[in-house]
Amino acid sequence: MAKDYYEILGVSKDATPDEIKKAFRNLAKKYHPDANPDNKAQAEEKFKEISEAYEVLSDEQKRRMYDQTGHVEFGSGGSNFTWQDFSHFNDFSDLGDIFNRIFGGNFGFGNSDSFFSGFQGDRGENLDLLTNLRISLEDVYYGAKKTIKYRRNAECQTCHGTGSKDGKLVTCKDCNGTGQQRVVQGQGFFRMVTVTTCKTCGGRGKVPSVVCPDCHGTGSVPVTENLEITVPKGAPDRLRLRIKGKGQSHFGRTGDLYVVLNVEETPDMKRINDDIYIVEEISFPEAALGAEKEIKLFRETLTLKIPAGTQPGEVLRIKGAGFQHMNGRGSGDVLVEIRVAVPKHLSQSQRELIEKLMDEPAKKHSWLRS
Ligand SMILES: [Zn+2]
Ligand SMILES: [Zn+2]
Repeated sequence: MAKDYYEILGVSKDATPDEIKKAFRNLAKKYHPDANPDNKAQAEEKFKEISEAYEVLSDEQKRRMYDQTGHVEFGSGGSNFTWQDFSHFNDFSDLGDIFNRIFGGNFGFGNSDSFFSGFQGDRGENLDLLTNLRISLEDVYYGAKKTIKYRRNAECQTCHGTGSKDGKLVTCKDCNGTGQQRVVQGQGFFRMVTVTTCKTCGGRGKVPSVVCPDCHGTGSVPVTENLEITVPKGAPDRLRLRIKGKGQSHFGRTGDLYVVLNVEETPDMKRINDDIYIVEEISFPEAALGAEKEIKLFRETLTLKIPAGTQPGEVLRIKGAGFQHMNGRGSGDVLVEIRVAVPKHLSQSQRELIEKLMDEPAKKHSWLRS
C-alpha cells in the first residue's frame, strides 16, 4: 500500500462518511494558506495529500477499490492524483474561499500539475468541456467503444491559434497593451473608476497584425467532433474520463473534454460494485433434489449448480462471473437469489404425488423443514 489515506486523514479504517468529511475539514483549515505564511511549500504539499485522501475515501467506489487493492486509478487511468481528479471544490463553502485562494495565484502550485495550467486558460476562463455518455451494463461487462459527437471551438489551423494571418501580434492601441480599460463614471468628488477587460483585444493586450480570414482573428473555429471513447471493463457509474486537448481552444490554449459515464440500470439485474445480483426461479423438485441450470447473462451462458436442499431466499454464488475489476485483476461474482415456485395448478398425477408426500407417516408435515 503506497499511501495510507486513513492515516493521512487521521481516521480509522471503518470511519463513516461524516467522520471523513470532518477530518478533511479540520485538516484543510490547518493547512490553509493564511495559517501557514512561513512554510507554504510544505503546506501546499500537505493540502494536496489530504485532498487526494479525501477524494478517494469520500467516494464509495474508490474507497472500496482502495481497501481491496491498496491503490486507485485516477481520471482516465493514471495512478497519480492531480487536481483535475479532485471533485469537491464546491463542497466546502463553509471554509470560505479556500480553493479560490489556493489556486488564485499567490499560493499557486507552480508546476505542470497546477490547477490553472491544466484546467483553465491564462485569464481563468474554463476551457474544459463536460459531456455525459449513457452506457449499458453490457457495455461495462465487455468494455465498449462509443462514438460521441459534440461541438467545440478548435484551434484554427491557418493561424495556429494566434488569430493573426502571418502569426504576428501587435500591441493593442485601445489599452496600450494592458488588456484593461478604465471607465471613469460620475463627476467632481464622486468619481468612480471601473476597470474592465479591453473589448478590442479581449484582455490579451495584443491584436493580430493581419486578421486571420479563417477565424476572423479569434484563433479558433467551431468544429463537430466525432470522438471514439473507450469504456473500460468494469467502469463504475459516474466514472469521469478525461480526453486531453479536446476541450475549447482559446488563443493557443486548449482545454480537455471530460466524459462522465452514466451506467443505465436494467430491471432484472442489480449491480453491487463489481457483483451482479439476479433472481432465479426454480421448481420444488429442483430445490429438493439439486440441479444444474443454465443462466443467460449478456452474451454468456453460465452454469448454476443448485445443491440438494436449497432453500427459498438462499443466495448462490458463481465466482468470477461478475464485472471485471477496474484494475484488471480479477472480477466480481454473480449472486443468484433462489425463489422456489409453487405451482398454482396441478395435474392429476402431480396432485397424487404431492398428496403422497403429505401422507408420509414417519415425518408428517415435517419434511418441509427437515
Ligand atoms: Zn485563424
Ligand atoms: Zn486591448
